[in-house]
Amino acid sequence: MIRLALYFHKISKSILDIVYPPACLACGISLLSVPAYNDCLCKKCFDSIRFIRNDYCIKCGKGFGAYTGVLKKCGNCCAGGLHFNRCIGAAHYEGPVRELVHKLKFNGEKAAAKLLSEFIARKIEDQDVLRYVDLIVPVAIHKNKLKKRRYNQAELIGYYLEKHLKLPMVTGNLRRLKETTAQFALSRHARFKNLRGAFVVKNPSVFAGKGVLLVDDVLTTGATSAEISRMLKKAGAHRIFVAVVGR
Ligand SMILES: [Zn+2]
Ligand SMILES: [Zn+2]
Repeated sequence: MIRLALYFHKISKSILDIVYPPACLACGISLLSVPAYNDCLCKKCFDSIRFIRNDYCIKCGKGFGAYTGVLKKCGNCCAGGLHFNRCIGAAHYEGPVRELVHKLKFNGEKAAAKLLSEFIARKIEDQDVLRYVDLIVPVAIHKNKLKKRRYNQAELIGYYLEKHLKLPMVTGNLRRLKETTAQFALSRHARFKNLRGAFVVKNPSVFAGKGVLLVDDVLTTGATSAEISRMLKKAGAHRIFVAVVGR
């Protein structure tokens, strides 16, 4: 279904490019008037992205801002509760990255998914975790949200990651049963509690003994990814890496 939608998107995009010249998805400037990074981002926006390099928490991928020379965990991870092995975050969630995620999430901008998946793929290839991964699983959204938004943004990123990393994506086996609203208003502890039991695995044997790359757009507290990881582990998943663009 998502493949067919993307095929038609590709055709309509080439027609639209002739009528409306391409603009930077982050700042809106016409890409005919300034140097471009690619067909949907200007060079200035790309250059301002702060990719997370050596300066991150080895567990949740949060950037520290400066490399201290030692691999270490952040305060939250030292406190525990995150059931995945590691989170790989591509960039700081700010500026053009935040704008691209918003375009993907609220404007259905599929070109943003393609670009963001490239940033994630580059970081994953850097990290030498691919040999432990068998499947890509996008974070599931509730059916009411899917109805409203018409697509799952994590699945769109997963679709392009599947191509970059040459790994199969499994959709539909992880289900979101509970819709949780206004998570941002809750404390860290309450967020984790609120999500308990929000996800189910339909057929555990699909994940049994497998290394899973759980994909989402952004990781904030990690409560969603942690709860899904708990369920994936219960289903027998061997290792879980979380891959997000914004951290
Ligand atoms: Zn721009
Ligand atoms: Zn951490």
